[in-house]
Amino acid sequence: MELATSVKSKLPHVGTTIFSVMSAYATEHNAINLAQGFPDFNCAPELVELVYKYMKQGLNQYAPMPGVLKLREAIAAKTQEIYGTVYNPETEVTIVPGATHALYAAISAIVREGDEVVVLEPCYDSYVPAIELNGGRSVHYELKFPDYKVDWDEVKRLINFKTKMIIINTPQNPTGAVLTADDMQKLSKILENTDVVVLSDEVYEHIIFDKQAHQSVCLFPKLAERSLIVSSFGKTYHTTGWKLGYVLAPELLTKEFRKVHQFMAFCANSPIQYAMADYLANKDAYLSLSAFYEEKRNYFQKLIQGSNFKILACSGSYFQLLGYGKITHERDIDFAMRLTREYKVASIPTSVFYQKKTDNSVLRFCFAKNNETLEKAAEMLIKV
Ligand code: PMP
Repeated sequence: MELATSVKSKLPHVGTTIFSVMSAYATEHNAINLAQGFPDFNCAPELVELVYKYMKQGLNQYAPMPGVLKLREAIAAKTQEIYGTVYNPETEVTIVPGATHALYAAISAIVREGDEVVVLEPCYDSYVPAIELNGGRSVHYELKFPDYKVDWDEVKRLINFKTKMIIINTPQNPTGAVLTADDMQKLSKILENTDVVVLSDEVYEHIIFDKQAHQSVCLFPKLAERSLIVSSFGKTYHTTGWKLGYVLAPELLTKEFRKVHQFMAFCANSPIQYAMADYLANKDAYLSLSAFYEEKRNYFQKLIQGSNFKILACSGSYFQLLGYGKITHERDIDFAMRLTREYKVASIPTSVFYQKKTDNSVLRFCFAKNNETLEKAAEMLIKV
């Protein structure tokens, strides 16, 4: 039998991610890349120095499977300080090579053939393939356009005896919406008397605007006891290329999580873990991040005011959604491509974040960029 017929794709509907596609298209057309979510400015030089220091010290071999203990302790201390929740660094904190890895390992540890997983969409594009690769079925709830709020009574109707997990994400990619304390209480309530596990993607926990406080699931004891929380140093320290993050979860969930993690990666890279353990003492680095990005959000919004794009609310993350219904009736993918070709600004069409490819004529722009980059992009966008 030919290989082409014997290797049957486990993900027949999945191609190359839109992030790679749009980034390549941006390069091809010499466009400003506001598509993929990464900063175009550098991380703190002290952080690089610390990594270099530990590399020179010879900390270049495998880290312990759950992560360097010093870093796990620093994370537990930070979590207790900002959220008041205690996680045991030995048994409840795990360092991972990026949040994407953590999401996959968590889903793999919990979801079995035939299990259902509720996702709130538009959502980060790794969730659904991870569920499917593990034999699960994703059950989709569409956030209410245009403010992307959740009606928890409707979510409750999606939960049944087959539901094993619900995945939430706050602040949310791609919408910039955040879940409030009221949302969390409602979620807690609808999960009462179920054994549903919460996978809470909180990679943008330190990027939240307008004086709102991040509502981590760990603030809600009834949620915390059934949750795996995923965080990423990439977003907080402008180091997306370093692929380092961590997972907080009660011992029982951590034990199962680590069983999978140890065979997916075994451990994350060592010198950066030692560096992060030291750098976490610099509280200002994460406490000032919301203000830093809020200024960028405001600046970008100001620059495109008066354009034909509709500025949607952005309460957190580093993504700004822009509606283009006044400009054209083109499909969002086509318009995003044309905007890249003709106006030299690359974005992400939001329909790709929906199972049904729901198209609300909205594009996602990443504003984690130098002001000059934002100015150049805005100069083009106001011409559209
Ligand atoms: N979750 C969300 C919501 C994200 O936006 C991203 C990064 N784009 C990730 C997870 C993955 O983070 P990492 O780069 O640490 O794998």
